[in-house]
Order: sequence, then structure tokens, then C-alpha cells
Amino acid sequence: MPKDLHLIREEVYRRNPGEAEFHQAVDEVFGCLSPVLEKHPEFAEAAILERLCEPERQIIFRVPWVDDAGQVRINRGFRVEFNSALGPYKGGLRFHPSVYLGIVKFLGFEQIFKNALTGMPIGGGKGGSDFDPRGRSNAEIMRFCQSFMTELYRHIGEYTDVPAGDIGVGTREIGYLFGQYKRITNRYESGVLTGKGRGWGGSLVRPEATGYGTVLFVREMLATRNLRLEDQRVAVSGSGNVALHAIEKAQALGAHVVTCSDSTGYVVDEGGIDVRLLKEIKEQQRGRVSDYAAQRGRAARFVADGSVWEVDATVALPCATQNELGEAAVKRLVGSGLVAVAEGANMPTTPAAITHLQNSGVLFGPGKAANAGGVATSALEMQQNASRDAWSFSHTERRLEAIMTDIHQRCAATADEYGLPGNYVAGANIAGFVQVADAMLSLGV
Ligand code: GLU
Repeated sequence: MPKDLHLIREEVYRRNPGEAEFHQAVDEVFGCLSPVLEKHPEFAEAAILERLCEPERQIIFRVPWVDDAGQVRINRGFRVEFNSALGPYKGGLRFHPSVYLGIVKFLGFEQIFKNALTGMPIGGGKGGSDFDPRGRSNAEIMRFCQSFMTELYRHIGEYTDVPAGDIGVGTREIGYLFGQYKRITNRYESGVLTGKGRGWGGSLVRPEATGYGTVLFVREMLATRNLRLEDQRVAVSGSGNVALHAIEKAQALGAHVVTCSDSTGYVVDEGGIDVRLLKEIKEQQRGRVSDYAAQRGRAARFVADGSVWEVDATVALPCATQNELGEAAVKRLVGSGLVAVAEGANMPTTPAAITHLQNSGVLFGPGKAANAGGVATSALEMQQNASRDAWSFSHTERRLEAIMTDIHQRCAATADEYGLPGNYVAGANIAGFVQVADAMLSLGV
């Protein structure tokens, strides 16, 4: 890293104390930028990096709501509008007790480059709350979402900022949020949120898109080494929307998927995960993976408190949360034949684990590229809303597939251009960064 980059990084740390996840996300991008800054002195002259690391706007607000016992509760809401050089701020909302400003900033920062890689006209943002939806009734979720939107509505809009889901926010929550936005503004502004239900402005394939896209990205990575998904044994972590659809697509393309997990433990199913049963348990019953093991019978084993990375696999798809796949697990997996990792979640692999994977010659698809199918399909939803159209499943899926192939190609070509063949981390960070930096230059200070 040249000195300038170090100084800028120090300044980012100083201005954002205690935000470890944000620092980690910045470090990952900065670690790839030295050759870019050498090639493009105009970026440093215009202080592009300093500007990129400072969100354009950060909103923190109180979210008061009443629980089923009649007690008033208070949570904190966030929306970080990070960068709008390429289009309206775009990115999900996360409802999870771990959410604080540093998490929202790491996610928003990553979203800038991810969204650029999709080739769609969307800027980067992220939001959420430290609200814990676990164990809350449907009525409590609705009241919380309504209160959250009662403040958020004044900051968003189809040309301004377009939130969607993330951990803890799915179609149900988007429905309550959209209903409240519509109620307050008296506008049926479909393009203000994505991840809406089919039937009221949602895009087909959006629920599947992140998981499907991750697997399509793996297929492209494997093809560069003449490997096929059909021959792979796949470990997936998580059992939320991303994990479910990664399992579904990997199986559709012939892979053998043997695991899933949640915060209570993991399941190994040597017969192959029964994705229909898992979906029924997670989406209809709102149950746990231990319920899956109980209902699946002898074929599946539930391991309480363990890590899914204890199971051997040739492909690992971390689809749960940040920093869930560490160096020790990666060393073990590499020793037992791992060939590829793709991040369905955001930043699930620790920096030390990524270094080990790269040094071991394992294909590694970073989340910015590998899980960009979700937000790309959100942009397709915006496109349908803007033209008051609704596309078929097959048309939308073809668009998603073309976008994922294109992202893979762009990352690979950029890595080649900078003399780092096969380094998808560098390819994704550089390609995303250059596109945003060029736009920022064009738009002036
Ligand atoms: N939360 C998703 C992500 O991390 C999707 C965001 C969106 O669709 O706007 O990219």
C-alpha cells in the first residue's frame, strides 16, 4: 500500500472509531487499489477515496412501538446513504440485534461496488435496526415496520433511495413497510422498495435471485478450471432466503448439497438436503433446522452449537452472516479437498481465511460479485415498476443469468488486466471502484 492509501485508511479509522466491520470492508477494498491509483492519478487528485469513505448522508432515528403486552419498546433505526454517483441509493434493511452504525456502514460500503458490478444504474446504501424479530408475533412485526417507516419515508423515494430486504427483512416486512409508505404519502410508488410480493409490484425471481446468482457465479468460476457443479459436494451455511435458494439452484445444476444451519446448530444430510421440506419449515412454520432434522428422520443429523464447516465439502457457500468462515475452518477444508468458495452472505469470510484460500489456489468469489444477483434483480424490479410491466419468470431468470455471467467475466478480465489472474477479490474491487470513481469525477465535487 503506498503511503497515501495508508494515511487515508488511518483517517477513516479515526473518523469512524470502534466500527470494526466497516474498517474490515474498507481494508479489503484499499488492499486492491494501489495499482489503480498508480494508473489513474486523477482519482487521488480529486480525493475520490476520501469522498467514497464518507457516506453522503447518515440517518439515525428512534423507532418506538408497542408490544403485544401493551409495553412501549424503543429500537434504533438506521439508513446510510453512501454513494449516489451511479443512481439512487440502493440496498437492503437488516433487522437483527447485532445491528449498529458500523454494520450498516460496512454493508453500505460494500453495496457501492457490488451495485456498480451489476451494470445497473444504482448507487449504494444500507439500513436496518437493532430490533430482534425472533419470537415476535406477526402483529408486533407489523407495528414495528410501520413505526420504522413513519420516520424513514421522508428520506426515501424511487429517485432517491430504494431499500429492500436483508437479514430479518423478507416479503412480509417489505409489505408492511410499503403499506405504511403508501398510507403516509398517498402514492402507490412501487419503485420505492424492492422485494415486494408478486401481485403487488414485486418481480418474479427476486426471492430466488441472491442464492441462484451465487451458484451461477460458482458455475462460471469452476468452468475456468474445467470443473462442473455436477461433481461437487456442497456445504451451505444458513437457512434463510439466500441459503435456501443456493441449495435449490446447486441441486438443480446437479450438485450434492449436504448441509444447512442456523444460530442453534447445523444439519448434515448425506441423502442431500430436502429443500422443499426445509422451505416449508423455514417459510411456513418459521421453525429451526433442528425441526428439519426431526421431520426428515434418520437421513439427517442435527449438531447443536457446531459449525457447518466441520463437514467435508468441495464447494463451500457461506450464506449466513459476516465473519462466519474463519482461518482454522478454511485450513481444514482445504486439507480435505475444497476447490471453491463463494460468498452468498456479505463478508462471511475473514481476511485471514481469504488469504489462505487464495494462497492455496482455491477459487474464491467475494460477496460483492457472487451475491450481486439479489440487488441486480432488485434493479430489474425497479425497471418493471418504472414501465408498469411484469416479466415472466423465465425472462427474468435469463436476465439474472446474463448479469451473473457478465459480472464473472468483468471480474476475471479486470484481474487479468492488473496481472492478478484468478483473483476475483481484486477483480471485483477494482472493476467496481473504477466505475464509481469515473462517475464521481464526471459529476464534480
Ligand atoms: N440485501 C441484499 C444485498 O446485500 C439486496 C439489496 C437490494 O436488493 O437492494 O445485496
